[in-house]
Amino acid sequence: MFFDRGTYEEVLMNWINKYDATAVYWNRNYDPIKYHKDRRLAELLHEQGIIVKTFEGTLLLEPWRIKKEDGSPYKVFTPYYKAHRKESVPPPIPRIKEISVFRSSEILGLYLDELGLLPKIQWTSRLEEKWLAGEYEGFRKLQAFVKNHLKSYTHNRDYPSIDAHSSLSPYLAVGSLSIRSVYHFVIQQAESVAEPFIRQLIWRDFSYSVLLHFPESIQNPLQAKFTKFQWLENQDTFSAWTKGLTGYPIVDAGMRELWETGFMHNRVRMIVASFLTKHLLLSWQKGAYWFWDTLIDADIANNTMGWQWVAGTGLDSAPYFRIFNPTLQGEKFDSNGEYIKKWVPELQMLPNQYIHEPDKAPKEVLLQAGIILGENYPYPIVDHKASRIRALERYQQIK
Ligand SMILES: Cc1cc2nc3c(=O)[nH]c(=O)nc-3n(C[C@H](O)[C@H](O)[C@H](O)COP(=O)(O)OP(=O)(O)OC[C@H]3O[C@@H](n4cnc5c(N)ncnc54)[C@H](O)[C@@H]3O)c2cc1C
Repeated sequence: MFFDRGTYEEVLMNWINKYDATAVYWNRNYDPIKYHKDRRLAELLHEQGIIVKTFEGTLLLEPWRIKKEDGSPYKVFTPYYKAHRKESVPPPIPRIKEISVFRSSEILGLYLDELGLLPKIQWTSRLEEKWLAGEYEGFRKLQAFVKNHLKSYTHNRDYPSIDAHSSLSPYLAVGSLSIRSVYHFVIQQAESVAEPFIRQLIWRDFSYSVLLHFPESIQNPLQAKFTKFQWLENQDTFSAWTKGLTGYPIVDAGMRELWETGFMHNRVRMIVASFLTKHLLLSWQKGAYWFWDTLIDADIANNTMGWQWVAGTGLDSAPYFRIFNPTLQGEKFDSNGEYIKKWVPELQMLPNQYIHEPDKAPKEVLLQAGIILGENYPYPIVDHKASRIRALERYQQIK
């Protein structure tokens, strides 16, 4: 790795001149903003007589590869998935053994430390406890997942207290692990039980296909009628949501897991996103921005798709009127409150019977568990039934 300071055009031109480079190769980036920036850069280099070659990168298949017969992009996942499965996924490109122009003894550019990228306040130590960076660690996680969880993935993946998912998303998001390596490893090791997991990998390809064809979806709802939706502006409820102080234990556990580790279980992402957009009536863009800021696996396509899907504003999303009841979701997917107790320690002593609704517990039970509602754990910030009705009424206005 070699580092330098400047805009990427400046740095690249500088290096081209310094080393008399005649060609530049890179992998394509499918974030629409970066994709178009790279295309402009390619034009600039062409004009200067530099050869540019770009290669596939970061997806199983490129976002424009799977199309309907009439050439238009798929807007619904299942037919996209079926069409995707008919194609073969190329194997990953073997590792480059040596780049002959660079001699290891030669110092090129700056040292990483000289760029001063690390934050001055040490806030990353909790993240570092959970995550080790790099391809080796990503591959180790993949091996452990295939060995211990792949077989029971469908059954267990919805339960946040069981680590039955792969935890590969951060490695895929930054590109330290090739998704094609993941695909081929899984097929090679356990093809007969791999399909549900492969399906999730294809959701990721689908997210990129949607994003590249509808780049405005980063900011705007994919269903036009939602541009008229009257979201609320309320800094107090938003702040309670971000801090995990809503009084709904499963929501609070998820938001605190996110803050502590940069990660949140998929089922819980759906619950907290539904709570924000429906119970609090705050915009999905606000939630997506918070996730973008705090997730270690922040991925522009998956994050946009995830939020539009839950908010009901996407192309192939859960309908807006499907409103999760956070208490029932907690009872179903964290029945004995293990996940809640891990992330919301002030509820640890509460009997399981009340773990999803501390405000329903009798006074003496709360006292014994050391909980003073409104002091060391909040009352629910909104009433479920009333906020459900309010959300449905709002939705009626744009239907
Ligand atoms: C509101 C919301 C926001 C989200 N934001 C992101 C995000 O910023 N980055 C991100 O990578 N994922 C995001 N997701 C999707 C999903 O939650 C994560 O990919 C998953 O939890 C990562 O854990 P894992 O690697 O153990 O997944 P596994 O269950 O092991 O799945 C393997 C891989 O498949 C892909 N995948 C799994 N589920 C989905 C999905 N629903 N959509 C697209 N791809 C999927 C991911 O690349 C994942 O790493 C979001 C989901 C929601 C509901």
